[in-house]
Amino acid sequence: MTAPLTALAEEEQIFRATVREFADRELTPRAQKQDTQGHYDKDLVPKLFELGVMAIETPQEWGGGGGSFFLSVLAIEELSRADAAVGVLVDAQNTLVANALLRFAAPELRQRTLTRMAKDTVASYALSEAGSGSDAFALKTVAVEDGDSYRLTGQKMWITNAAEAGVFLVMANANPSAGYRGITSFIVDRDTKGFTIGKKEDKLGIRASSTCELVFDGARVPKSSVVGKIGQGYKIAIETLNEGRIAIGAQMVGIAQGALEDSLRYTAQRKQFGKTIGSFQAVQFQLAQMATDLEAARLMVYNAARLKDAGAPFLKEAAMAKLFASQVAERVTSAAVELYGGLGYTRESPVEKRWRDAKIGKIYEGTSNMQLQTIAKQIQRG
Ligand SMILES: Cc1cc2nc3c(=O)[nH]c(=O)nc-3n(C[C@H](O)[C@H](O)[C@H](O)COP(=O)(O)OP(=O)(O)OC[C@H]3O[C@@H](n4cnc5c(N)ncnc54)[C@H](O)[C@@H]3O)c2cc1C
Repeated sequence: MTAPLTALAEEEQIFRATVREFADRELTPRAQKQDTQGHYDKDLVPKLFELGVMAIETPQEWGGGGGSFFLSVLAIEELSRADAAVGVLVDAQNTLVANALLRFAAPELRQRTLTRMAKDTVASYALSEAGSGSDAFALKTVAVEDGDSYRLTGQKMWITNAAEAGVFLVMANANPSAGYRGITSFIVDRDTKGFTIGKKEDKLGIRASSTCELVFDGARVPKSSVVGKIGQGYKIAIETLNEGRIAIGAQMVGIAQGALEDSLRYTAQRKQFGKTIGSFQAVQFQLAQMATDLEAARLMVYNAARLKDAGAPFLKEAAMAKLFASQVAERVTSAAVELYGGLGYTRESPVEKRWRDAKIGKIYEGTSNMQLQTIAKQIQRG
């Protein structure tokens, strides 16, 4: 018999329980504080390495967990249930940068970089620029050949993890006359001369996550740090983002799960008209709708992740999962704010942060319009 989508194998159950226990102990108590201060506490990132969520799919001989993509999805969901700003740190590390290296990098670069990323090095994924977001391949950063190196010049924008990262996967054009076919991926070390981290954004949500500008001014990157082949960068970007967006769906499911749990707790305790507000049918129906939306979003995310792990096509399902899960996260967190009443509109409650955090799901790793474009293309193709 085929197992239900939400039935977890023993290894998956143990992993999820471990991450949940960590998130309850280490993330929930400091989520509000980190949101207000706008950065992670210093001791947090080392704890994530210790937990084993920074190299989930990296082979064990390089210090990773040797796990599946589905485990990454579970980790991001569980971390985001406590703090979505931590969920995205782990998302970019695993489903974008490690994923690109595992799939495309030459053996030496792959082993060298993934070993660091399993031990203590955070990674960033640098594609977007001020003039190229949805139209990502209109990027203007160039890579000019110079002996045994390339020199990178240009500016990246909106780069997650940039404040903490030691390595950056950077997309630059090595042959602008060839258009998008010149785009190439490079691994760039933080201490590379000619490379600086620029302005950090002051954001609406996921405020503890760093989002920065990167500035390249003739930064010298050895040819041995090219990921895959020259001109393969657009393929690497498309393929990693196709997978990465399933994990953003998981981040959104985690946010919605947290908001539902907050709401169940609060409505069971808050009294009006001499009764708990959770005893009013109208409130019960709101909770039931939230739970139903969440269930559908989780099934879509798990299905897309399971398809990916099974080596089956998943492009449409991944786009649908991200599109829908980000809608659900916004709806569920908004309902949670309302169920908390006036308190929900203040920083005293946990739900206003979740509502702000949810908004990013419709924007990064392809806006909702971009997901709809992908879905439309797939269904019209038949
Ligand atoms: C917090 C945060 C973290 C991020 N992290 C990273 C990161 O780590 N690495 C990275 O490379 N990037 C990152 N990004 C960038 C992110 O992926 C882009 O912001 C996103 O792709 C949208 O690009 P844009 O901001 O230029 O918006 P635009 O592309 O200008 O879009 C603006 C609006 O126009 C719509 N639109 C654009 N083109 C079309 C079209 N053809 N049809 C219909 N509608 C269209 C969009 O849907 C959107 O509603 C991050 C962004 C944020 C806010």
